[in-house]
Amino acid sequence: MIEISHVNKWYSPTFQVLTDCTTSVTKGEVVVVCGPSGSGKSTLIKCVNALEPFQEGDISVDGTKVNDPKTNLPKLRSRVGMVFQHFELFPHLKIIDNLCLAQQKVLGRSSDKAVAKGMQLLERVGLKEQAEKFPAQLSGGQQQRVAIARALAMDPIVMLFDEPTSALDPEMVSEVLDVMVDLAHEGMTMMVVTHEMGFARKVANRVIFMDRGEIVEDAPKEDFFGKPRSDRAQKFLSKIL
Ligand code: ADP
Ligand code: MG
Repeated sequence: MIEISHVNKWYSPTFQVLTDCTTSVTKGEVVVVCGPSGSGKSTLIKCVNALEPFQEGDISVDGTKVNDPKTNLPKLRSRVGMVFQHFELFPHLKIIDNLCLAQQKVLGRSSDKAVAKGMQLLERVGLKEQAEKFPAQLSGGQQQRVAIARALAMDPIVMLFDEPTSALDPEMVSEVLDVMVDLAHEGMTMMVVTHEMGFARKVANRVIFMDRGEIVEDAPKEDFFGKPRSDRAQKFLSKIL
């Protein structure tokens, strides 16, 4: 579903942020990406839906090359759900309108259909009662669940998460992770940047460890948690576990 092949990216001629990154995510797989701050995790995940350009290598999603100038990027992005650390809801729109906007503007769904889908997804993330509120009236955990529902409203074939719980108060982390665990169990293909190793242990198929722009480790979860090959991953794990 996602093929990342020998990707090199520079933010400036003297600063290479990604070095020869190669990995893939098959349909229904959940891959957790971890590593120290500044190691290139966000950059890599943004390259997958072409929010960041890269100079060398290839990435394709469901067979569509994201770095091909002929690729219809808005169309591709509409099939790749993305959830960020800071929710990024539209503050001036009610929750239900946050869920409907792209369904109508990008997918051309009727208002009735978009609302029905939006309400169904709000129910799924336990927020049906909040539909008429504005984002600022919700807790961080609720806003992040809305952001996930909004991404799901587009019927994505892949979901990308970039530290979806790291801006949340501790008591709100599990309500967001629970939604993500359900998604994983339903067979969604997911690439998740997170340091929540409990989540990784529960649902990840593989764990990727990045350091200084390189994929240092890419292993089945059992191997990664059993004994990471590299010193760098071992050191990292000993700090966060
Ligand atoms: P991570 O998500 O692992 O913390 P990032 O991908 O955000 O890492 O950043 C990797 C490196 O690239 C960091 O050194 C960061 O400062 C730098 N960086 C990130 N975004 C930009 C940008 N737009 N321009 C220049 N440097 C950037
Ligand atoms: Mg990041």
